Amino acid sequence: MKTSTAAAAIPNARPFLYGQEASAITAALRSGQYGHTDTTDAFEAAIAAFLDVPDAVAVASGTSALHVALLAAGIGPGDEVIVPSLTFCASVQAILATGAAPRFADVSPRTLCVDSHHVLDALTPSTRAVVPVLYGGRAVDLADAEPALAERGITVIEDAAHAFGSYAGTRRVGATGKLTCFSFGPIKNLTCGQGGMIVPRSPEEAEKCRLLRGLGIVESPAQRAEATSYTVDGFGLRAQMSSLNAAVGLAQLDHFTETQTARKALWRTYADALHDVGGATLIDVDIEQSVPHLCAVLVAARDRDHVFRTLRRRGIGVGTHYPPNHQQPAFATWSRPLPVTEGVGREILTLPFHQHMTHADAEHVGMELGKAIVEAEADR
Ligand SMILES: *Cc1c(COP(=O)(O)O)cnc(C)c1O
Repeated sequence: MKTSTAAAAIPNARPFLYGQEASAITAALRSGQYGHTDTTDAFEAAIAAFLDVPDAVAVASGTSALHVALLAAGIGPGDEVIVPSLTFCASVQAILATGAAPRFADVSPRTLCVDSHHVLDALTPSTRAVVPVLYGGRAVDLADAEPALAERGITVIEDAAHAFGSYAGTRRVGATGKLTCFSFGPIKNLTCGQGGMIVPRSPEEAEKCRLLRGLGIVESPAQRAEATSYTVDGFGLRAQMSSLNAAVGLAQLDHFTETQTARKALWRTYADALHDVGGATLIDVDIEQSVPHLCAVLVAARDRDHVFRTLRRRGIGVGTHYPPNHQQPAFATWSRPLPVTEGVGREILTLPFHQHMTHADAEHVGMELGKAIVEAEADR
């Protein structure tokens, strides 16, 4: 007999539009130019200004941001790239796309991010890059590992897909001098529909990224429109950001102060609601500094699946971000024991987190989570 799964009344994640996105897309459609256009240039400039950095390079997705940034940093076959296993599979696929191998690292059970010692523990003579993932939106501080990384010429490439808008100290993530990659996918802090952005470390690196995202063609799209020919000067991907996506991103960025306020407030409501929920440990996102992307808790492994099913049945769209990558069939070649990640993989529960939710919704989810845990314990 088939069991029917009730549609989640509160989905796990959902884009939030402010209204102007539709007219922005209509204007971009009417212009008749859907590739990288001056709208994409304007979005790059707006993001650079927002982050207070000299330049930013728009690409088709967060995954292509990582792929292009890794290639621009010279990563390729024979190289190893340290990455936490506890991330979206995109982080790993971007590494594999360069021909390099992922070297999976464990994470802190408190933040689900790598600390310096996790990175240092994972170093091998083949390590050429480290991709810290800013899980939930919090900045990752690798200051203690940086001297050792710099000495070996290892590049840090931040996977800041969760962390657009968050602060690292007094600067926004992306503005601390590291090669940084953002995702503007459907459910990220800011959405373009699909899209990504690279913050390069130098004008030379920006140039490399632009060549790589545009099929290796030297001339900018605007220059090409005027020229009789074009020059292909190296490997390149079709990874530019369409004007349609850039238009959506520009409209979203206009409202980012609201986004920031709403996401922080929702996370704080959850933190309050979960205070008295026994059996659920909240993952800390450093809420003062961060624009949170999600709200995750750990629930005893023996109860997690039971709690997950109960909440889904009651219309609460819980998730499990993320099933560890070193346990995925595609990445088995690079698997190694990662005790914290493996434990977290069995305990993680991500609660619905998006701007359509009211504070009452978050309180309701907190209460239902508490009830579901009590029920799971009684059913054991
Ligand atoms: C979303 C995400 C990506 C990939 O971004 P896309 O825009 O979906 O390609 C990479 N890493 C993490 C941690 C993500 O959450």
